[in-house]
Amino acid sequence: MSEQPSSATPVVDTDTESDTEVDAEDFAAILATTREYIRSVVVPREREIADTDAVPDDIRADLADMGLFGYAIPQRWGGLGLDLTQDVELAMEFGYTTLAMRSLFGTNNGIAGQVLVNFGTDAQKAEWLERIASGDVIASFALTEDGAGSNPAGLATKAVRDGGEGGDWIIDGTKRFITNAPLADLFIVFARTRPADHSGTGIAVFLVPADAPGVSVGPRDKKMGQEGAWTAEVDFRGVRVPATALVGGDEDAGYRAAMTSLARGRIHIAAVAVGSAQRALDESLAFAATTTQGGEAIGGFQLVQGMLADQQTGVMAGRALVREAAATYVSGEDRRIAPSVAKLYCTEMVADVADKAVQIHGGTGYMRGVAVERIYRDVRLLRLYEGTSEIQRLIIGGGLVRGAMRDAGPR
Ligand SMILES: Cc1cc2nc3c(=O)[nH]c(=O)nc-3n(C[C@H](O)[C@H](O)[C@H](O)COP(=O)(O)OP(=O)(O)OC[C@H]3O[C@@H](n4cnc5c(N)ncnc54)[C@H](O)[C@@H]3O)c2cc1C
Repeated sequence: MSEQPSSATPVVDTDTESDTEVDAEDFAAILATTREYIRSVVVPREREIADTDAVPDDIRADLADMGLFGYAIPQRWGGLGLDLTQDVELAMEFGYTTLAMRSLFGTNNGIAGQVLVNFGTDAQKAEWLERIASGDVIASFALTEDGAGSNPAGLATKAVRDGGEGGDWIIDGTKRFITNAPLADLFIVFARTRPADHSGTGIAVFLVPADAPGVSVGPRDKKMGQEGAWTAEVDFRGVRVPATALVGGDEDAGYRAAMTSLARGRIHIAAVAVGSAQRALDESLAFAATTTQGGEAIGGFQLVQGMLADQQTGVMAGRALVREAAATYVSGEDRRIAPSVAKLYCTEMVADVADKAVQIHGGTGYMRGVAVERIYRDVRLLRLYEGTSEIQRLIIGGGLVRGAMRDAGPR
């Protein structure tokens, strides 16, 4: 689920982001309710979620009641209709607790849902989006394959037409590490319909119900962290879908849809990282203020204060960066470099902040059940998915140089 820049990488579409449908006052209420719920209900149950490797049904139901399965989906299709500047404020709250909670509705609003919002036909939106926004349907984004992660253009899953124009499509291939696959009702599946040529990438995207014959979901992956968030391999063997399952009715929309969803998602992930960093800082501060060595609070030691200062600096810089990247994304000014800058900085920043949090906690920080130990493992993923840090650097550096060459004109 990433993006390796190449000559085949199209510029991210600039017309797909709709304006916010929620005014500042209503959004403030949504934000306050979300924050209160997370801090008073989810935070106290983090250990239960980690120990059972599941988000409890009552929390899932509450999240659905709060509209969180569809906060980024337009109101016309049953969502809350928040824009990305509002999305990131919520995401900073989501990051404050176990990342499994966000993961449960993350694909509906983000990488999977946005493919439908921005590239689906009205009939496809009408069929799926309302149920995605309500949380009745869980949608998964199925792009990554063995050998096609950072470079999705190399994907091997094939879609072949059975019987000319208007005929069904038959899909064959295997996807791996697919978030929410064990829960999914709908897979957004990227598949090649022909080799890339001068007219396009040949990558299409299909809407495949999880109960379609030939779809099988493997056992849940055993992961390093984010207990309660599930991933699995998904196998598609001779899966037959009607012509209407081709997103946008366009055989070449897949690559562009993936890149657009991923670019938007990067700013969201950056915001989640800031939220997790804030939590790690708060845990560190509380610990430093109350834990003693030789009768003195460890927060009194200047070397500990130095770590706290670095954490605070990272959180504030990350928050400012996320807000700026979201604003330039919504305005259309920058939908390519700024998302990668935000994801690169914030996900690397939270890794350092979480590492320092464990350090400040001493041996306690290495013990299961201590929040910073969980955060340390949970945030490791943020540097890997939706484009590794290396891929973000390639997008930023390559984009800057291409821009400079354009400005310099022909040599
Ligand atoms: C928990 C989890 C959830 C996920 N959820 C989803 C999901 O819902 N849907 C989905 O489609 N995918 C999902 N993914 C897949 C994820 O996006 C990929 O794992 C990620 O993009 C990296 O791809 P890869 O694993 O194939 O690693 P590789 O691409 O093989 O990368 C290995 C290393 O090589 C580096 N590298 C690769 N190419 C280059 C290059 N050109 N230049 C320099 N360095 C390079 C990488 O940065 C990395 O360090 C998930 C992964 C995990 C672990």
